Amino acid sequence: MEWVKQAPVERYHGDGGGRSTCGQRVENHRSGRHFLQIPGPTNVPRRVLEAIGRPTIDHRGPEFAALGRACLDGMRRIFRTTTGRVYVFPSSGTGAWEAALVNTLSPGDRVLVYETGHFARLWAEVARRLGLAVEAIEGDWRSGVDAGALGEALARDANGGARRGRAIRAVAVLHNETSTGAASDVAAVRRALDACEHPALLLVDTISSLASMPFEHDAWGVDVTVAGSQKGLMLPPGLGFNAVSEKAHRASRETAKLARSYWDWEAMDAPNAAGWFPFTPATNLLFGLKEAIAMLEEEGLPRVFARHRRLAEATRRAVQAWGLEFNCRPPRQRSASLTAVRAPDGVSADALRALVLDRFDVSLGNGLGRLHDRVFRIGHLGDLNEVTLLGALAAVEMGLSLAGAPFQRGGVDAAMDHLAAPDGEAA
Ligand code: PLP
Repeated sequence: MEWVKQAPVERYHGDGGGRSTCGQRVENHRSGRHFLQIPGPTNVPRRVLEAIGRPTIDHRGPEFAALGRACLDGMRRIFRTTTGRVYVFPSSGTGAWEAALVNTLSPGDRVLVYETGHFARLWAEVARRLGLAVEAIEGDWRSGVDAGALGEALARDANGGARRGRAIRAVAVLHNETSTGAASDVAAVRRALDACEHPALLLVDTISSLASMPFEHDAWGVDVTVAGSQKGLMLPPGLGFNAVSEKAHRASRETAKLARSYWDWEAMDAPNAAGWFPFTPATNLLFGLKEAIAMLEEEGLPRVFARHRRLAEATRRAVQAWGLEFNCRPPRQRSASLTAVRAPDGVSADALRALVLDRFDVSLGNGLGRLHDRVFRIGHLGDLNEVTLLGALAAVEMGLSLAGAPFQRGGVDAAMDHLAAPDGEAA
């Protein structure tokens, strides 16, 4: 078949009329637009792109100070914190993970990580490399955090380790595990800590949930929230965030001994108060961030979350109609920002993704770690609407058909029925 012979990576997805930017003829220019339906990076809206495209300004000047303050204040509203501080780094999410750890902990400190999937495992690996003593609760990669199991581990520690003076110092969980499509109840994790009066800091990764799913830094008692620019915030990759409670900030000043330089919160405090940074910031991404915050607030966070819920439910209806299996087993934990679908028996998830990309110009997320080639992931977060989603679902349905996969048609119809319901706005 034709699609097998063409290497999708060689395609040019741009507006260049069949010419690459270096002027060489590109044979296979495609009309229409590429559908980026991976669970991040997500589609960057034109308004944000235009903001990013502004000429760079002096990062020590008064115009920048207003921009810096607007971004930091705006992100506090997005994280839902009135008492916490926000730090912004020119970094990927991995950098923001590292910042959360090095600012709050000391060499050899015990960190309890709930291993919901690939990204939780990677965060644990960062902690190990930094010299922390990681204890992992192994999840099944098909569900979110079991707050009961976490609570038992914390209660044992509160009764034993804590008395011996080596209490677990931090608990690290993901609000949304992007590799499995399972979301976790962060408020329940907070309750598990409180139930045994455990003093550990609560570190939460919201890289694929912030601005897509409700999140409450203050109300859920989170000490450090980690986020990145490239998903619900609708920006390109390149900004990492920490939202920090007073307790975590105190730990950074008084107890944390891990070496830190670039990631040091304290070095940010004085310049940030005036809207500046201690190093050259990613000025143009901050232009974009200011615009993205404005867009989220124009739509209103509750409506942003309702839109994500509606698109997620439509995707689930499609998956059910196809007769395919969700990677995340508990229905209540299925993520609003992506759906991870198990490939039918005998079908390579990666071959299916390659086919969908090649034939229909739609990028789907791949299976990571132990889910390699077992799942494909449909991203439905960030800047998208009903018809964008339906286009992606149609591409999957056509791909399943072309791949000869065992499945039933009708997924797109089921999704349309949900999206066209009279009470669709509320769904
Ligand atoms: N945490 C989660 C939940 C993620 O989805 C990702 C990336 O997709 C990361 C962490 C790592 O972020 P980055 O790739 O930006 O370093």
